[in-house]
Amino acid sequence: MNVVLLGPPGAGKGTQAQVLSTYFNIPHISTGDMLRGAVKEGSEVGRLAKSYMDRGELVPDEVVVNIVKERIAKSDASGGFMLDGFPRNDKQADKLDEALDTDGKKIDVVLYFKTSPETSIDRLSGRRVCAKCGANFHVKNMPPKKDGICDYCGGKLYQRDDDKIDTIKRRLVVYEKETASLIEYYKNKNILSEVSGDLDVDHLFIELKKLLAKPK
Ligand code: AMP
Repeated sequence: MNVVLLGPPGAGKGTQAQVLSTYFNIPHISTGDMLRGAVKEGSEVGRLAKSYMDRGELVPDEVVVNIVKERIAKSDASGGFMLDGFPRNDKQADKLDEALDTDGKKIDVVLYFKTSPETSIDRLSGRRVCAKCGANFHVKNMPPKKDGICDYCGGKLYQRDDDKIDTIKRRLVVYEKETASLIEYYKNKNILSEVSGDLDVDHLFIELKKLLAKPK
């Protein structure tokens, strides 16, 4: 099962992908996580990506498309994958279809997290991420047991630079301008399933499980 998670920043895609990928035993492929990994490593891709990411803009398509093509070609993704944060525009969606088509594959379902701007802003501004394992927390909605410390690995929690309010606003504008058109793109292919991203973590998970269990 090849799945795309679509929705604005702060819709809960990353949090749900973490649990869904374990539940369905398919890898969670997040372009944001891979780019942040490249920034941390200080690789050429990372240096290029950082300036875009810090401003809340999209990293150039060629860079991201190549990263995704390499990742989905790995053996652990042969039985399916869950894409989070990709595609972000029509061109990336076309390139993804092309790459899958070459291997006789396709996207089976697109889960669209319809989310209000208020929810997005609240989630992103309160999000804290583990510097070691990448797990997500939220200061109000999903606080760690011990302040500032990851429940899973004991790593330190930090606030992403692009989760500061000005960059959040920019990311939401970029989503509307570049990404929201993908809702129509996948609706036209008859593979879009909508869910409310405003639901809390547990209810959203229940809804998503139901949608993924349903044959298309
Ligand atoms: P995310 O973690 O998905 O919110 O992504 C964080 C940042 O990484 C975005 O604001 C972009 O700068 C960059 N990014 C992630 N995925 C993509 C993509 N598919 N295309 C272009 N830029 C991306």
